[in-house]
Amino acid sequence: MTCLQLFRQAGARTALLDCLDPMWSDTAWPRSQRCHTGSYPKVKVEKPGCLQSIPRQYSRYGLPYNAVSTALSGLKPPPDLVLITSIMTYWYPGVLAAIDLVRSTYPRVPIVLGGIYATLCFEHARQNSGADLIVQGPVEDEANWSRIWGLLQDTPPDISGKPSAGPALDLYPEPDYSIILGSRGCPFHCAYCASDLLNPGFSQRGFEEVRDGLFPEIGRGIRDFAFYDDALLVKPETWLRPLLEELNAVGLPVRLHTPNALHVRFLTPKICKLLHQGGLTTIRLGLETADFSERTDEKLSSREWDQGIRNLLAVGFRPEQIGAYILFGLPGQDQREVVQAISFAKRYRIRPHLAHYSPIPGSRLFAEAKRNSPYPLEEEPLFQNNSIWPCYKGGFTWQERTYWKKIVGAG
Ligand code: SF4
Repeated sequence: MTCLQLFRQAGARTALLDCLDPMWSDTAWPRSQRCHTGSYPKVKVEKPGCLQSIPRQYSRYGLPYNAVSTALSGLKPPPDLVLITSIMTYWYPGVLAAIDLVRSTYPRVPIVLGGIYATLCFEHARQNSGADLIVQGPVEDEANWSRIWGLLQDTPPDISGKPSAGPALDLYPEPDYSIILGSRGCPFHCAYCASDLLNPGFSQRGFEEVRDGLFPEIGRGIRDFAFYDDALLVKPETWLRPLLEELNAVGLPVRLHTPNALHVRFLTPKICKLLHQGGLTTIRLGLETADFSERTDEKLSSREWDQGIRNLLAVGFRPEQIGAYILFGLPGQDQREVVQAISFAKRYRIRPHLAHYSPIPGSRLFAEAKRNSPYPLEEEPLFQNNSIWPCYKGGFTWQERTYWKKIVGAG
């Protein structure tokens, strides 16, 4: 969506076809959960051959194929360029199907593929996707911007000096919720994470830019907002603190959510108070492990954890609003470490959430993941799927899943 905003800033007419949004069809949509999260329509599709031995269903989520095809062919005027994004590497079969569909609908229109799969599995995408151009990393990178526009004209439009682009939220006609994105990347460089591969460096937007994207969304009646930042609490003085102060001053009844983990060490009394007053409702924290002496990242100490949780509770957050992500299924991980982290999270009666490890090409842990997995992780992105527990000893079984569900839920 940020990409579309850049194109609009450059003077292009744009249309967004989000296959996980009902706006282009009258497809029946499952009822969403509390605060408008999930669910999506899904259809069971044939499992790829290499996943036959995995005891799980394989499904396609979102709009039915025919609805996408009808929406695509109904574009008036027809597009000059089609940009397709991609998310998880192991969802690439859906991306390839989308490219095929666009190609058969508009055979002469150039197709650009970007996003997470394209960035992390560039070579795989180059060999298999059929797109005319594969973009690695942010579209606004000068080289990417020139290459994309090179498919249409000799000189790319100059967007320097324009405000930094946020998501093009207004392209959703009737959203139940919206997002806030004030930064890209993360100054931490955890060995298991893709953040700095996708957005090298850490950059923040200005307070006014974030506010000017958010307030029209509130104005059209949206109440639930999810922060999509990887490092929301880093340098809060740039935009987060003034934004929360303004929200508090205006007194709007919004509910804020942090599905991406917050850095607990930055949960100072002041920021906790502002978050509470601003309407933060769902809080997710990055605990990852309780083995603080052996942790592979440097983002948290035991003392910081205790202090951060106490600060949250002191301003009035309830333990049931707070969840702690715990890494599960890391290469060579001792399962006792996971059990220990679950108990540790429960000491404050907050809910543990197992964050199933997905091996990320290019990350520092990927080499170890390859050594510990029975699957060819690099050659076939389908094996990077965290649903198959690719580095967990013995892989996914329903028995093991039930066992872990019990441990998480017990007590
Ligand atoms: S702190 Fe979180 S977002 Fe940042 S690199 Fe680590 S896991 Fe990724």
